[in-house]
Amino acid sequence: MEVRDTLSSSMKKIEVREGRRLTMFVCGPTVQDKPHMGHARTYIFYDVLARYLRFKGIRLFYLMNITDIEDHVIDKMKETGRSWEDIIATYSSEFFNEMRKLKNNSVNYHAFATDYIEEIIKQISKLMKKGYAYEIPDGVYYRVRNFKDYGKLSKQNLDDLRAGARVEVNEEKEDPLDFALWKKKKEGEPSWSSPWGEGRPGWHIEDTAITESIFGPQYDIHGGAKDLIFPHHESEIAQMEAISRKKPMVKYWIHTGHLNVDDIKMSKSLKNFVTVEEALKNYWPEAIRIMMLSMKYSAAVNFDEKAAIDAQGTAEKIAILQRRVNGSSEMKSDKAIETVERILSPLENDMNTPETIREIVGYVKSSLAKSKLSEGERGEIKYVLNQVESVMGIVHMVPFPDRSMDIILDLRNELRKKGDYESADKIRGNLKSLGIRIEDTVEGSYLWW
Ligand SMILES: [Zn+2]
Repeated sequence: MEVRDTLSSSMKKIEVREGRRLTMFVCGPTVQDKPHMGHARTYIFYDVLARYLRFKGIRLFYLMNITDIEDHVIDKMKETGRSWEDIIATYSSEFFNEMRKLKNNSVNYHAFATDYIEEIIKQISKLMKKGYAYEIPDGVYYRVRNFKDYGKLSKQNLDDLRAGARVEVNEEKEDPLDFALWKKKKEGEPSWSSPWGEGRPGWHIEDTAITESIFGPQYDIHGGAKDLIFPHHESEIAQMEAISRKKPMVKYWIHTGHLNVDDIKMSKSLKNFVTVEEALKNYWPEAIRIMMLSMKYSAAVNFDEKAAIDAQGTAEKIAILQRRVNGSSEMKSDKAIETVERILSPLENDMNTPETIREIVGYVKSSLAKSKLSEGERGEIKYVLNQVESVMGIVHMVPFPDRSMDIILDLRNELRKKGDYESADKIRGNLKSLGIRIEDTVEGSYLWW
């Protein structure tokens, strides 16, 4: 399979050496607020990438960091008066809960930055020794001019970067591009001890300390949203390659596009974000996944209500088909295998999920159009849906109703047969108020909740 690599700006074939696992690191959230739909978009994409690689038989280790100390966390403490521990505990568990609800379940390990303070200090010490870092009164900084490749990921040269740099507040820095590796403690901030006194790590060093500890100085895939390319990922390369002198730090850089609201990037600072929690009140998790996967991962896309409603409609159609074949046993025929192959093959081409979604929609539509399905056909459909679910996570598994529900449904069908639609509709309405919906199809009526 091929993916578009940001560093080489070209399509690269994903290769795994015989007997080796593939290593993937994705920048996790800073846990200072509820996750929003921008997070949903990013993490659903990497979840499907991980699921697909595993589906192909590749042994993948998927690592995600959790940024539990950073400027935004300190800001939140100041805004709310809450303790650091309280903020981190609340929002990290929110993040895990919402990701679980969205069926993002492929991460092997979440690494909290503050669990790696020792490794962070080790990396900074190495950079100091090699002349890539220096200490001034408010912290330790990376000396960008000593790393000739700075700018290679974001395709910028140092002079342009300097010209574009913000007016420097800290005049003691040697260069406006130099970034903090260690920030010395200010009043009221959480801190850890280090050779440079009490303080906290800079944001970029958190990631390389974690990836070096777990994967070593070189690994396969690094993911994250596009706005992390500069300065975050650029600086990760500068740190790790300066320490190890091994290139490249990462073989494949894969970046996701932004999610916009009214064409403006969704972000906490702009307060134009929709939380995952709010979205899940109106839409199934499968609908949110379908909506996100209907767009090419690398494109910037606009979040709008209509796309969400359409995606909900698609998720419900898939669920109706799933319901029709629920009682059958999987049948892995040649035809079923071919169908799965046809649906998932667009993923080989830089994770073309929109094409895969189109294939699924076409398949579901033609299967639902058949008024009667043979037992063999049901078994095949079940196999196809299970395979699709294992990669895409878009099949809403409707539980069997208990016996009392069957009795109610039978009763309603009797009423409809007799033409008493008023009473039948009343049952439907009453069930709806309990959150249970009835779907009438040519083969009968189905419930879900
Ligand atoms: Zn990161």
